[in-house]
Amino acid sequence: MDHINGPLSILFTGLVCAELIVRWFFDREGVDWKDSAANIVIGCTDKFLTLTIWLMLMYAGWSVCYALTPLRIEMSNWWAWPLAILLTDLSYYVYHRVSHHLRPLWSIHSVHHSSQDYNFTTAIRLSWFSNAYRWLFWVPLPLMGYSPEMTTIVFMLVRLYQAPVHSTWIPSPPVYSWVFVTPSFHRVHHGRNEKYLNKNFGGITVIWDKLFGTYQAEDEPVRYGIPNPVNTYNPFRIVLGDLWEWMKRKRASELQNRPAEQVAERLQSAENETLTIHEG
Ligand SMILES: [Zn+2]
Repeated sequence: MDHINGPLSILFTGLVCAELIVRWFFDREGVDWKDSAANIVIGCTDKFLTLTIWLMLMYAGWSVCYALTPLRIEMSNWWAWPLAILLTDLSYYVYHRVSHHLRPLWSIHSVHHSSQDYNFTTAIRLSWFSNAYRWLFWVPLPLMGYSPEMTTIVFMLVRLYQAPVHSTWIPSPPVYSWVFVTPSFHRVHHGRNEKYLNKNFGGITVIWDKLFGTYQAEDEPVRYGIPNPVNTYNPFRIVLGDLWEWMKRKRASELQNRPAEQVAERLQSAENETLTIHEG
């Protein structure tokens, strides 16, 4: 997979560096540099963890699924790639929407949203745990007969497509935006304006948002970030803060519920004993 991952990483890095250099000279006041620095640290750490742990985990998982199914889709079929791109786009939509609505997954995905600035570095501001579960949403592809290699390529394709849409200056051509995700479409997704919350989950195309009613056009200026801002540039607090908060609250609610559960268990065992006595 290095032959896929290497060029993608170089392309990502080139895009990020080029934008930062241009904005340093022409729009220095328009960038939150501390935020961008935090994004780069978070992104590099995510890259390291992905290459050392998560990529192996996802490839092993997809290989097991591929071994379990009798189905096979050959790369040479003309329809195999368009279908794979459509499926990877749908997998991304489902992964993304679920990540916004399930509290533990949101505590991971919200890292990507907690920046109040918006540039290419936002694209790599990804929790170090995203790839630990993200690949599960692509399991249907190897189960349908796509090889782990093909699954990896289309999995990475969404991420590659997502990089340049984190932009305030790349145009969003009207006809193109009827079908494909544009910077304008994705800016809405990063907005904390009330009408923009939980909208525009699409990765490559906008068709799933339009089909499932989560599409929203950019019709007012975007205020970036999340309703409860993290107010920190510390990468560890950005990545682990909300996750730690969620775990603490879960633990507290478990402890709170424990006496009630114990009471219910005692009542149940007392009832069983009474029944045994009567039956006896
Ligand atoms: Zn999101």
